[in-house]
Amino acid sequence: MARYIDASCRLCRREGEKLFLKGQRCYTNKCSVSRRSYAPGQHGQQKKKMSEYGIQLREKQKARRFYGILESQFSKYFEMASSKKGITGENLLQILETRFDNVVYRLGLSTSRPEARQLVRHAHFTVNGKKVNIPSYLLKVGDVITVRDTSKDSPKFKSVVDIAGGRVIPKWLEFDEENLSGKVVSLPSREDIDLPVKEHLIVELYSK
Ligand code: SF4
Repeated sequence: MARYIDASCRLCRREGEKLFLKGQRCYTNKCSVSRRSYAPGQHGQQKKKMSEYGIQLREKQKARRFYGILESQFSKYFEMASSKKGITGENLLQILETRFDNVVYRLGLSTSRPEARQLVRHAHFTVNGKKVNIPSYLLKVGDVITVRDTSKDSPKFKSVVDIAGGRVIPKWLEFDEENLSGKVVSLPSREDIDLPVKEHLIVELYSK
């Protein structure tokens, strides 16, 4: 499975904002966006006026990088979103939010989305009692995610309350701290998704 393996902090610097790809480090003054708030590379400090296309492209790249998705998969999600009823941009964000790895992150079971992806790949969770190790698996209302019994005793999940770092569980999810399980109680609406992305620009980009 293809994935991005270069330095994560470059992605944040490219987008000019924190994408929270490195867990606790993102909340410290070691964060590269705080230390070098310009794009990476030789011409990173040059000021350039962006075209309309450039603005739309950056917005799409930002959304893609927040969720750690490659271009081909992102465009498939866009097709799915446009074939659904409702507002395409909001449908797109809803699909992205219901990815298995994102839900693990939202439940506070990992410090970042890349870590959530790795935990899912290493089969630490079940969905409705069955082992699932596909980060892109799309969850539905009523699905229950549980840390597997064999993983519950690992130091990683023993300190899960600290890991959550005071993160607020979104209201479309429920978390049972005792059993280390979570449930999708509804599909997220736009107000439930705290992503600083202007989804209408992504729709405009793909509609060209
Ligand atoms: Fe991005 Fe985190 Fe690196 Fe800061 S520390 S640049 S938020 S990945």
